[in-house]
Amino acid sequence: MTTVSLQHLTKRYDETLAVDDVSLTIDDGERMGVVGPSGCGKTTLLRLIAGFETATEGTIQYDGDDVTHVPPEDRNVGLVFQSYALFNNMSVLQNVTFGPKMHGVGEAERRDRARELLEMLDIGELADRDPQTLSGGQQQRVGLARALAIEPRLLLLDEPMTGLDAKLKQTLRTELGALLDDLGVTTLYVTHDQEQAMEMCDRLVVMNDGDVEQIGTPTAVYERPANEFVADFVGTSNRIPATVRDGTLDLGHARLDAPDGTPDGNVTVVARPEAFALDGGPVEATIENRFYVGEHVRAIARTPDGQELTLRFDPGQAPEKSQVSLSVDRDRLHVLSQ
Ligand code: ATP
Repeated sequence: MTTVSLQHLTKRYDETLAVDDVSLTIDDGERMGVVGPSGCGKTTLLRLIAGFETATEGTIQYDGDDVTHVPPEDRNVGLVFQSYALFNNMSVLQNVTFGPKMHGVGEAERRDRARELLEMLDIGELADRDPQTLSGGQQQRVGLARALAIEPRLLLLDEPMTGLDAKLKQTLRTELGALLDDLGVTTLYVTHDQEQAMEMCDRLVVMNDGDVEQIGTPTAVYERPANEFVADFVGTSNRIPATVRDGTLDLGHARLDAPDGTPDGNVTVVARPEAFALDGGPVEATIENRFYVGEHVRAIARTPDGQELTLRFDPGQAPEKSQVSLSVDRDRLHVLSQ
């Protein structure tokens, strides 16, 4: 399909640097997620790639061709936004055939293509309905079918599942993931929902204040965050100030073997809740709060020197007593130099 390459892409609105010198490549057929706090520039980045915004500086290439100044209608990009923006004076089928019609695809072919997509998205029986009579999840599927009907070289999704209930989101993301695997279309996926992004995307871009903080696989971003911002933003992390000397990690309240190859100095240790186990290890802590969330119990604990720890236990194994001794799996620690 298409490789997208951004070089030094910058978008400034008066005093706001919405996208600040971003360079990255989305590989052919890759699903790239964009995550970051509200206002960090995710939508602006997507709108630049689609052609709805003009770059202040930098270039955008599709397969090596400079499209920085190509209007959106000539980029052959499929778009799905949070607001479904379906045409209400047309049936579902007409919504899906509209794009191909504008591209000069013959009637029989565009109807076949639309019906096939509606079937793939499990809404074949809705073809003749008026979009206004559909549920949010059904409308979202129509929006996806419409975006895919033009056989886009690039699919851009901006919060496509906002407003859907948790169960439906789960179903749709599994189905959408499988469909995109089948189609192999290069996809940029902007979302607030990290879990969704991690599950659905090959790589993630973590943005903050217009900048890219890290680009990596979900595993890399979670297990080896590039800095404290990423560690804090993606998932739950304990960030513990520590000192390393001769292979020993001094957390203040406990000493551990440092991960192999950790240089001496002041560091921040990133320890995910699942790095701790309740087995009489060297970290003493007092459990202050417990939250039952079904699949696990989240506990907030405090070490004698005042470090707060977020822990996670299987429901059957959550400790009753408030005083606990924990071990830490050093292979699950990530050390950031200061
Ligand atoms: P959210 O997650 O809340 O949707 P976002 O990460 O998508 O946020 P953007 O919508 O890209 O963020 O906005 C990035 C920054 O650019 C924000 O500070 C925003 O106020 C600013 N901005 C976006 N569009 C415009 C505009 N048309 N004019 C002026 N400033 C804008």
